[in-house]
Amino acid sequence: MTTEVQTETTTPRKRVLSGMRPTGRLHLGNYMGALYNWVKLQHEYECYFFIADYHALTTDYADTSKLKDNIREVMLDFLAAGLDPKLCTIFRQSRVPAHFELNDMLAMITPLSWLERVPTYKDQQEQLKEKDLATIGFLGYPLLQSADILVYQPSFVPVGQDQAAHVEITREIARRFNHLFAGDPGGASVVTADTLRRQLDSLENAPPSHGYSNDRIVREIFAGETSIVDPSSRASGVNPVLPEPQVLLTPSPKLPGTDGRKMSKSYGNTILLSDPEPEIRAKLKSMVTDPARVRRTDPGNPDVCPVFDLHKVFSSEETRVNVREGCTTAGIGCIQCKGWLADAVVAELAPIQERRRYFEAHPQEVAAILEAGNAAANKRANQTMQEVRVAVGID
Ligand code: SF4
Repeated sequence: MTTEVQTETTTPRKRVLSGMRPTGRLHLGNYMGALYNWVKLQHEYECYFFIADYHALTTDYADTSKLKDNIREVMLDFLAAGLDPKLCTIFRQSRVPAHFELNDMLAMITPLSWLERVPTYKDQQEQLKEKDLATIGFLGYPLLQSADILVYQPSFVPVGQDQAAHVEITREIARRFNHLFAGDPGGASVVTADTLRRQLDSLENAPPSHGYSNDRIVREIFAGETSIVDPSSRASGVNPVLPEPQVLLTPSPKLPGTDGRKMSKSYGNTILLSDPEPEIRAKLKSMVTDPARVRRTDPGNPDVCPVFDLHKVFSSEETRVNVREGCTTAGIGCIQCKGWLADAVVAELAPIQERRRYFEAHPQEVAAILEAGNAAANKRANQTMQEVRVAVGID
């Protein structure tokens, strides 16, 4: 079995896996939190990116009327953002049955208490009181997520700083499986606490700009300490069937929405990747600012202003300097400042929206990309399942 692809220079590429729930058209927060990084990763890794349509059912099973449209919109946004089917595999989770076979197999060995103690289990039940989440599907969400990951035997799962812990249960489940079935005494590739702490520190100290001083950090992390498990040695029991994936910390700036809270669909404060320019300008014009700057003549403080948080991500260094200078001396008004921000956001989204228009006009091409991605994902996932079945003894 082969688990690495070869580039032209025969350098093995490590595998990366990540997915996103189809919640409808994606916004700037989704883009900067994940897609922007995925687009970069596809050039350096063997990448599998999926639309987690089954996961959408864990909380929204009672109303699936928008699911089909949402899947289409997310696929369009994936391609618009720059995911290139020549460089990565894009697929739908529900089209790869191996996810569910592995999920069922892992369910046999996963203690109930591991799932019950996942912090988001209780938190989300509290937050989404209007939904009945006392279901097996919702409790088993982290398990399905683990199967989604492990069935591709990836080296890395790219996550933002606040999600690093989410990968841990996947690692624990893989370790248990390997211990029970694959002759692995304690699990192989272990990310040490020191490594993780160093990665977190470097991200914390990084400037939040995506003008990409963070690139340096990404490169450093990419060049990290993970060692690829030699697949040829798995049969001998030396290496695990389900290698523990490592966390790949990627820059994930917290973007405020127009009301100053975290940009989120549920708050209705988003700027969509597909919003037309007038709408982007109107939304930003109404964005909250430094609450202490009441009059035009009052100096403001960019460090407490959500508009400046977006400038830090999208505007040039020169613009940021002008904003700070103009704001703190009352030399510019908030409307002017927001206009500069709108210019930067519109410029960032222009190529994305152009690609989106192309793919909207070519639905058959989009469908073909997804079909090919589904086939490639099935092929890869089935290789893992063969090994899993042999290890469990039900081949
Ligand atoms: S000038 Fe800009 S940074 Fe200053 S308070 Fe107004 S919007 Fe915020």
